[in-house]
Amino acid sequence: MAKRDYYEVLGLKKGATEDEIKKAYRQLAKKLHPDLNPDDPNAGEKFKELNEAYGVLSDPQKKAAYDQYGFDGPSMGGGAGGSGFGGFGFGGGGTSGFGGGGTSGFGGFDDILNSFFGGGMGGSARYSGPIDGDDLQMQITITFEEAAKGCEKEINVVRDEECAECGGTGAKKGTSPTTCPTCKGTGQVRVTQNTPFGRIQNVRACDACRGTGKIIKEPCPRCNGRGRLRTSKKRTIRVPAGIDNGQIITVRGQGELGERGGQPGDLQIFVTVRPHRYFTRKGYDLYCEVPVTFSQAALGAQIDVPTLDKPVKYDVPEGTQPGTTFRIRGQGVQQLRGSGKGDLFVKVNVEVPKKLTEKQKDLLRQFDSSMTGREYEQKKSFFDRMKDAFGG
Ligand SMILES: [Zn+2]
Ligand SMILES: [Zn+2]
Repeated sequence: MAKRDYYEVLGLKKGATEDEIKKAYRQLAKKLHPDLNPDDPNAGEKFKELNEAYGVLSDPQKKAAYDQYGFDGPSMGGGAGGSGFGGFGFGGGGTSGFGGGGTSGFGGFDDILNSFFGGGMGGSARYSGPIDGDDLQMQITITFEEAAKGCEKEINVVRDEECAECGGTGAKKGTSPTTCPTCKGTGQVRVTQNTPFGRIQNVRACDACRGTGKIIKEPCPRCNGRGRLRTSKKRTIRVPAGIDNGQIITVRGQGELGERGGQPGDLQIFVTVRPHRYFTRKGYDLYCEVPVTFSQAALGAQIDVPTLDKPVKYDVPEGTQPGTTFRIRGQGVQQLRGSGKGDLFVKVNVEVPKKLTEKQKDLLRQFDSSMTGREYEQKKSFFDRMKDAFGG
């Protein structure tokens, strides 16, 4: 499904005010909450979309980035598999209790009722299903050659890892979590509520175990019962040959861990490639310029041409004109997903000598006076045409 514009999701136009955004969100949240639409299989998605839109547009910084860059904005979680915003915990009533969390769940319906009607519905239930982990984003800078040939880079990844002390259970070593007696391990309880919208059968996260289905009597002291720890770890990343500036390496499943059985996010590495001294790159082809002397161009010569490996010999033919470009096949960049290589394009710059001695100048004068006029093709045709034009 194509991602809808956030303003469109809220039924607004770009430039809507803070109040309009808030009002539109409240009305739609009442309409679209999954608990009120048990027959709509897409209700969860719709509600998530709404919350994501609101999460961005209600945050001045994110809103500004979105207004300017759309989904490509630097702080957007969207795009390829980003899990976005929308996890929120409403405060008890008031208008300022909206927190833009980093998870992708949605709040229980009574959270919304609390925020609209000033509390009294009780509970602080949250979505208790699996939550996928967020993508982690990093940046590396590599040399031109490393991009062309591939390399391995060590990077420091900071993310939550399973706590080694408790094996991720969150329970103190030697103890283990017990099944929550309130929800019998499901993490959910059913409650029937009388609301301004009628009687609602509401499934919400179990308060006793906070939706986990497990009770930890003695929390692991190392991770405080979280089961995971913020860890900084060196990882070696394989950078494939042929990668180019601005491309992204995705390491599946190496982002933040999911919760309650959710999938882990991806590790996304944005690649910056430093410019090269000689080469520029277009796709897999390389371009460079090589100076040759005036006499090399006139007489022909074997010159050294740089490549990514080592200089190669190239025969510049007799009478080569300035700016001529030669193509050397197969001396470009290795294709990212293929066996082929691009080509190398070498542009010849003819250098006119300076600081000549009197003797050298004399030799050139002698050389020049030996010319018959046929040697300079362009000059001849240029002046012939000028004669025709001006009747000289
Ligand atoms: Zn632990
Ligand atoms: Zn429970």
